[in-house]
Amino acid sequence: MGYNKEVIIIGGGVIGLACAHYLIEKGASVRIVEKDEIGGGASHGNCGLLYFSDVIPLCSPGTVSHEIVKTLKRTSPLYIKPTLDYKLLIWLLKFASKCNSSHMTQAAMGKYEILNYSISLFDTLLALDTMCCDFEKKGILAVFKDKKNFEKYQATNEFLATYNMEARRIDKKELQEIEPALRNDIAGAWLNENDWHLKPDMLMASWRKHLSKKGLIIEEHCNLLGFEIKGNTLVGVNTIKGSFKADAFVLATGAWAPQTLQQLKLDLPVQPGKGYSITMERPGICPTYPCSLYEKSMVATPWKSGYRLGGTMEFSGYDDKLNPKRISKLISGATAFLREPLGHPVIEEWTSFRPMTYDDLPIIDKAPSWENLIIATGHGMLGITLATGTGKLVCDMVYGKTPEINVTPFGISRFR
Ligand SMILES: Cc1cc2nc3c(=O)[nH]c(=O)nc-3n(C[C@H](O)[C@H](O)[C@H](O)COP(=O)(O)OP(=O)(O)OC[C@H]3O[C@@H](n4cnc5c(N)ncnc54)[C@H](O)[C@@H]3O)c2cc1C
Repeated sequence: MGYNKEVIIIGGGVIGLACAHYLIEKGASVRIVEKDEIGGGASHGNCGLLYFSDVIPLCSPGTVSHEIVKTLKRTSPLYIKPTLDYKLLIWLLKFASKCNSSHMTQAAMGKYEILNYSISLFDTLLALDTMCCDFEKKGILAVFKDKKNFEKYQATNEFLATYNMEARRIDKKELQEIEPALRNDIAGAWLNENDWHLKPDMLMASWRKHLSKKGLIIEEHCNLLGFEIKGNTLVGVNTIKGSFKADAFVLATGAWAPQTLQQLKLDLPVQPGKGYSITMERPGICPTYPCSLYEKSMVATPWKSGYRLGGTMEFSGYDDKLNPKRISKLISGATAFLREPLGHPVIEEWTSFRPMTYDDLPIIDKAPSWENLIIATGHGMLGITLATGTGKLVCDMVYGKTPEINVTPFGISRFR
């Protein structure tokens, strides 16, 4: 196969840009077709954690009962809109059926491989002078309000240790020294130094600039209308800006993947998991570390140039309205943990959709029945973290090269 393939990527989120990066490095001519603006979807206002230690899938033993209890206590960040949408109902049932230790162990192995693969690729990427994104390698603090929960994390940490991803226990006294932004009534924290963080909107802007200089063609406000097909091969895309031809295609439309695949009769179990964030100037007493506030399932991320609270998980279809109740929940959640939970002024209140699969593993595979289409979606809560690994795997798939890690866990055949 030649190295100067022409490739069209549909979707200009972090996954689309990562695919473009490795394809351009390999010598491909790449065009991104994006319905809004590059980095305007889930990749914009997320928490920016490079959560390499997050090998445990969301669907693990106890997740369902834990969330039911929290929902009854009205403290859950999870919201499921009452619905008759049978696809969502089936998705939820399948998610519940995966909340067992056998799936957890199996999925952790798959997650570990791609998380670990992404670390070294990020190291190389973020060493480029052109990547300006307030990047830091100081770790993430998992903070516990409740002593029982703090102690219980020991078992989780033992599981993480089997992957060399363990955290360090920080008792109350040391915690007050290393993270004075936390309130005095915190039980303790676990510091995972395997994790990094960056400002995702800055990453997207600098990555875009870097790739544009290397020849990436960007078509914004260019909604995909359909594919041009010859037999079992795609030859082009029709968009509101006209049609574009290519040798190979990558579908990286995040939570919108099911809609964009309808014409190809590919039904992928990706649901939009709506999340929220508030971006502010740094408060006077700003956290030193990104803090994952355990009992509230939310994150407070500090950067040199700002501060963000983010979280919540709402299954309510593609309704993109900003619900002020969820924003208030983020504020009250942060108030329970932080001495100065808010910075002024507020720069942005934001919502978008995570592309969620029911087994909490991404989908990175050649599309069945279509010769030259690769699908890269379903990155759930970890799309920023897994971007480099995904981009490199997709590039190898486009060029017919054997991927450097086992990609079976990310295959589409697992849904059949
Ligand atoms: C509150 C919140 C916090 C998060 N925190 C973290 C974190 O700390 N760390 C982490 O790793 N991940 C985090 N995530 C998850 C992460 O943001 C996502 O997994 C990731 O951004 C998904 O990237 P993507 O490129 O697949 O999707 P997106 O960024 O959504 O990009 C998909 C793109 O496809 C475009 N598109 C859709 N349909 C079409 C069409 N018909 N034609 C053309 N273009 C189309 C969209 O406009 C969009 O720009 C968080 C998410 C949320 C919501």
